[in-house]
Order: sequence, then structure tokens, then C-alpha cells
Amino acid sequence: MDKLEVNSTIENLVIIGSGPAGYTAAIYASRANLQPLLVTGFSSGGIPGGQLMTTTFVENYPGFPDGVMGPELMDLMKAQAIRWGTKLIESDVSSIDVKKRPFEIKTLEGEIKANSIIIATGASANRLGIKNEELFWSKGISACAICDGATPQFRDAELAVVGGGDSACEEAVYLTKYGSKVHLIVRSNKLKASAAMADRVLANSKITIHWNTSVTEAIGNDWLEKIRVDSHNSKNKEIEVKGLFYAIGHTPNTSFLDNQISIDEKGYIKCNPGRPETSLEGIFAAGDVADSEWRQGVTAAGSGCMAALAAERWLTEKDLSITIKREQPEPEKSESLTEEEEETNEETFDFNSQWQKGSYALRKLYHESSKPILVIFSSPSCGPCHVLKPQLKRVINELNGEVQGIEIDIDKDQDIAKQAGINGTPTVQLFKDKLLKREWKGVKQRSEFKDAIKTLIK
Ligand SMILES: Cc1cc2nc3c(=O)[nH]c(=O)nc-3n(C[C@H](O)[C@H](O)[C@H](O)COP(=O)(O)OP(=O)(O)OC[C@H]3O[C@@H](n4cnc5c(N)ncnc54)[C@H](O)[C@@H]3O)c2cc1C
Repeated sequence: MDKLEVNSTIENLVIIGSGPAGYTAAIYASRANLQPLLVTGFSSGGIPGGQLMTTTFVENYPGFPDGVMGPELMDLMKAQAIRWGTKLIESDVSSIDVKKRPFEIKTLEGEIKANSIIIATGASANRLGIKNEELFWSKGISACAICDGATPQFRDAELAVVGGGDSACEEAVYLTKYGSKVHLIVRSNKLKASAAMADRVLANSKITIHWNTSVTEAIGNDWLEKIRVDSHNSKNKEIEVKGLFYAIGHTPNTSFLDNQISIDEKGYIKCNPGRPETSLEGIFAAGDVADSEWRQGVTAAGSGCMAALAAERWLTEKDLSITIKREQPEPEKSESLTEEEEETNEETFDFNSQWQKGSYALRKLYHESSKPILVIFSSPSCGPCHVLKPQLKRVINELNGEVQGIEIDIDKDQDIAKQAGINGTPTVQLFKDKLLKREWKGVKQRSEFKDAIKTLIK
């Protein structure tokens, strides 16, 4: 959805955040005919779809006996919310004004008025703040092993993960797929991870655990080469690693609330025990943003359900809701979800196609096309790539094929990724006449790509 029309519509319910808590709240509220508006978030405090977009297999979400990929699970939740009538805005909320009724919610796309709000903004990965962290960020240091693990520089190299919880253990095991050895740096003398996860780490011969150890500095030239660590027994010890992955917990995304509702000392929203009501009537919270203890997909979803039911009751009690009437009690089936695209080959290559996949198409267009070429370097388990790809396709579509898009899977096309200097996914490169014109790392607003392309086709 583009810029919001300036209008006087007052929404029944605005849900902020598109993780399991936000989408579950949306499913319940839309089935109650409230037609909620869900602000998905974009870059502050995570990505659309939330934290599960940054993981591979989710093995403990009920209903999936063989596990489900995190991004796929979130796509399913999104499709279910849309099917029942949830409206989506892809934007961040920058502030809310709770002194006014209806509440006023400022997003990057415009202002929204709402009678009730569910805050489901989750929590963001913490950084260590070590020496040279900024210098080597995305040049060896990452907060998402699952997104960046397949980067060529990490292959067969020694890598380090910092942390001792479930995320750190999961990432350490995952990285053994790519690195020659993984150092797990643990601040205390035990793992906080679940027993099953800790056992997997302890049984893995490619993982070495450094107990009672903390990282103090990142060292290298153009890329991370080693880390300096302090432990009980030694100071300033150096460990040679090409990658340092943070898995050291999260900070709840509540800064946009500007202390207008009660939060605890760590920033988590305070709710009535076991309930979704916050300190302000009409505002409810769900998921990790109000839960410093359980923080799971299914607990977030459960609390999203509670928040929607509580919001519905509150709106009815105050006589504030305007429900929609459905023509058909049963909405149309949801649209089919993302299918894996085939790699383009000599036979399937189409010189005029707007979107193709793989090195064959890239080489052909790079050498022969006079149009700008937008290349997204992705990896199979990268949730942010999953978010960005449809955005790029939309940009290309809006520009009526004046630009051509290509996806390169860095797992399959390692040589191309190396040649292009790719050190994390998603990376997007814009070429024209065989020259690299722009590069973006991570998820960006559609307008950034569109503006850069427009200046090339003027
Ligand atoms: C690597 C990893 C692996 C995990 N594996 C599992 C697992 O296997 N099983 C399991 O049950 N749990 C797992 N979890 C935990 C699970 O992901 C979280 O508990 C769950 O996603 C929390 O859901 P949520 O809806 O509360 O928040 P999140 O999923 O964090 O979603 C928050 C949403 O809010 C949005 N947002 C933030 N700030 C703003 C703003 N200012 N404006 C608008 N939107 C905003 C974000 O964009 C995001 O969409 C894992 C977590 C991680 C990091």
C-alpha cells in the first residue's frame, strides 16, 4: 500500500507488528468482522513477518509434524489474515499519541486514527558494542547466522558465535554446515539453551565451547580476521575467525511508545498478569514485546488471540466498533503461496522477461541488454530476501519492464557471488552498460530502488 490517503476514517483496531502475535490477532479480529488494519513494520525493530523470518526450520509449532520453514509459516499466517479481511500497511510506526481518543498513530506512510490498538512489535537482536564492531559489521560480524551463513567468505573458515541460549546453539550448529570449525563463546559456565539444543552442541565435534569468556575486540583489514577475548584464565587471547555471529538476546521494540504506557526496567510492556490489557484502556499488547520469559512463536500467537478477543470485547462494551457485513460467510480461498522458481537455462531464457533466475540469465543480460539490471543475491534460508524479492518484482512491474530483475542464489552460484564481492544476503546490485551503479545491503524501501533506477532510464 502506498501513501495513506488523508482521511477521517477511524479504524476499529490497529495492530502494530506482523510476527505470530500480530497475525494471530489479525486473524481473530478479522473473523470478528472488525476489519483490522495491520502495520507490518519495515526496518525498525525487525522485518515484516518478524523473527521467524530469520530462521530455518521451526520444529515446535503445532500442526507441522515434519517442521516448517520460518518464512513459510509466516506467509501462511499472513495469507490467513488477508483472507479474512485484514488490511496491511508495510511501514514502521514512528509514534503514537495516546492522549487523544481516537488514538493517533504516525507511520512513515501517514497518520492513522484508531479506537483500539494491539502492540505486537516483538524484540530486536542485541549488539555487543565491542571495539571495531561498526567497522566489521557485515564484513564478518552478523546478527543472523541463518541469513548470512552461506556467504562465500565463511565457507571452510573458522567462525564464532557469541551467546549461550537457544539461538546461539542453533546458530552454532547451523554454521558447522559452512565453517570448518565453530567457536561458541559463552559468558558463563553453562548453556541456557533447552536440554535438547545443548545436547546437539555438546555432541558436535566441530563446535568448541569457550566458557566464562567474553569478546572485547574485532580485528582485521578489509574483513574480520580475528577476535580478542578475555576469560577467567587469560586476557587478550586472540582467536582467528572470519565470522562473528551475535546471539545475545533481544531488546523489546517499545521506544516508539515514548513511555506513554507502563513498561518494565528492560522495556517490556507491563500487562495485567496473564492478560493482554496494558496500563491504558483500549491498548493491548501481545507476543515478545510483553513477554520476557517464554518468547516462542506459539506463545506469541496465543497472546495475539487473547489480545484480539479482549479488544473486541472492549470495543463492544464501549460501543465503538463498526463491523463489516460479509456477502459470503466463507471468504474465497487464499491465493497460492510462493512457489520455488526454476533456474533459467538456455532453453527457458527470455531476453524480454522481467524476472529470471541464475547465472545463465545474468551473464546473457549483463553482456547483451541495454536496460538496467537489478540483481538480488539471496540464499535459500534468508527471510529478509523473502521479504525483499516481491518488493523488487513490484518495482520492476511498476517501471513497465524498463529494468530487468535477476535472482542469484549464492548457495548455488558461489563463483558469481564471490566475483560480485557478496558478503551477506540480501544484497542488491544495480547494473547498467556492464557497470555497477548502486549496491544495497538488507531490506530497503521500494522507493530507494525505484528512484535509483529512474535516474538511469531518464
Ligand atoms: C533465530 C530465531 C529462531 C527462533 N526459532 C523459534 C522456534 O523454532 N520456535 C518458536 O516457537 N520460536 C522461535 N523463535 C522465537 C520466535 O521467533 C518469537 O518468539 C516470535 O517471533 C515472537 O513473535 P512476536 O509476534 O511477538 O514478535 P516478532 O516475531 O519479533 O515480530 C515483531 C514485528 O513487529 C514489527 N515491528 C517492530 N517495531 C515496529 C514499529 N515501530 N512499527 C511497526 N512494526 C514494528 C516487526 O517488523 C515485526 O514484524 C526464534 C527466534 C529467533 C530469533
